[in-house]
Parts: sequence; C-alpha cells; structure tokens
Amino acid sequence: MTRSFRPSRRRRSPGPVDVDAVIREAQEQARVRARDYRARSLELHGWICGRCAREFDEKNLYLLTVHHKDGNHENNPSDGSNWENLCADCHEAEHTRGRLGDYLRGSPGESRRR
Ligand SMILES: [Zn+2]
Ligand SMILES: [Zn+2]
Repeated sequence: MTRSFRPSRRRRSPGPVDVDAVIREAQEQARVRARDYRARSLELHGWICGRCAREFDEKNLYLLTVHHKDGNHENNPSDGSNWENLCADCHEAEHTRGRLGDYLRGSPGESRRR
C-alpha cells in the first residue's frame, strides 16, 4: 500500500471551501480508522477467537472479526479494552443472543443446537 498520491496543501487562493474535498477527506479518515482498529485489535489480542479459541492464519483471517463489547463502534480505546476478536460464528452468536434475549425469554430451550 503506497500513499504516494497526496494532494499537497496549498493555501494560496482564498476562494470558496471545497466542501466535497473536505467530506472526502473525512470519509477517508473514517475508513482508515475502521481499518486501523481491526489491525490494532488483531495485534493486541492475537489471531485467535476470544470465545472458541479457534486460531487463524493469513488464509482465513478475514473470518476473524472485531466485536465491540459495549456495542458502540465509535468507542475504540487504543488499549483494546472495548474489543474482542471473535470468529464469524461466535460473533454472530454473540449478537443473536443479545438481540433475541428479550423476546425469546420463556420460549422453549435452544432451537439452534449444533
Ligand atoms: Zn469462535
Ligand atoms: Zn460485535
């Protein structure tokens, strides 16, 4: 990944602000941040699922996702305290449980056994 193409910051014309450019830059920064926290979490917690302890390598690393413990994707403390590396299965289970918990309460047992 190269970052060779970077518009140089020239401040010569006091013309109108290029809103599009500002928005594009904000979006780009958000993308970088999003990519960033995953890489950071993988670095901190290792290439391993926090639930089932499944290990990953370069070939299947895309199956390892970052879960936000408090459910807030904007909350990304750099010490990793809000992240948990979960494989796709465990991640789905984590969210399904939280979401269905309320209205499934009292329904007959687990229907999704494996
Ligand atoms: Zn797992
Ligand atoms: Zn999650």
